[in-house]
Amino acid sequence: MTPIVLTHGGATSVPAQSQDGADLAANTGLTAMTKGGSALDGAVAAVVVLEDDPRFNAGTGSSIRMDGKTIQMDASVHDGVTGDYGAVAAIERVKNPVLVARRVIETPHVLIVGEGATRFARTLGFADYYPDSNTARARFAQVRRVLKGKVSDTISYSTAWQRYDWKKSWNFETGLNEVLGAPDTVGAVARDAEGRYAAAISTGGTSISFLGRVGDVPMYGCGIYAGPDGAVATTGNGEDIIKKLLAKRVYDALAAGTEPQQAVADAIRLFPREVGIGVIAISAKGHGGGGNRGSDPSFRANMSWGVASE
Ligand code: ASP
Repeated sequence: MTPIVLTHGGATSVPAQSQDGADLAANTGLTAMTKGGSALDGAVAAVVVLEDDPRFNAGTGSSIRMDGKTIQMDASVHDGVTGDYGAVAAIERVKNPVLVARRVIETPHVLIVGEGATRFARTLGFADYYPDSNTARARFAQVRRVLKGKVSDTISYSTAWQRYDWKKSWNFETGLNEVLGAPDTVGAVARDAEGRYAAAISTGGTSISFLGRVGDVPMYGCGIYAGPDGAVATTGNGEDIIKKLLAKRVYDALAAGTEPQQAVADAIRLFPREVGIGVIAISAKGHGGGGNRGSDPSFRANMSWGVASE
């Protein structure tokens, strides 16, 4: 079969600003496979490129939590042939969470969280790295204005934050008063020459998040899904994605024969407009992708997502 890699830069990524990043990642993933790598190698190589690009909310560009300094990241990988699944959640101070997620596959576990995940990475030799980017700092400046009530919330993926009294549940070490003085994920799906599918995903979480908040990305069947019939990666408000078991739901549609672009559009339509959502998907019938943050009614042009194929 024709090897192919699809990537996405997150539900709020804008093609005019970051399409080149999604394309570069897809081409890097394809090269990894043409050099003999598996679909999982391709998907992971693509996500590493996106994690290293500070324009995207993952790895180096990860969002800063509400205290203005903590960065906690989630990532997962899914091999559609072996069914292997590995994930990390709320991991701190590593450059490429997706590479750590991949190593979880070698353990008896599927998900390692928090300090345990960070320490697990260190034992494997992943260096200490504080993901620090101008993009995340600018995003946090906007979060701060929202939290202070100076501007209305145009950055979070859902309006749930506006209805919640978050001040009462403040759980950071740094006090709220000291602090009061944004979202996205990257993902890739791949098919290698043997027709095997895989998916990988990584995120700095949503812009307005408590310490310890975990989204859809490391949760099985939510952020990604890969199997013998295809692969799917999603992005958007994790809490909403989880409740719809979104990646598995899209995969089931692919397995039932739905054409990928149709499956992507059907998935996006499950959510109200206020909830930001993006999806990429591949199957033997083709590929599809798109998001709902934009004016393209077909969803395709509303997100930076790349395709590389031989
Ligand atoms: N889905 C991610 C999360 O909720 C965020 C994103 O895709 O932008 O953590």
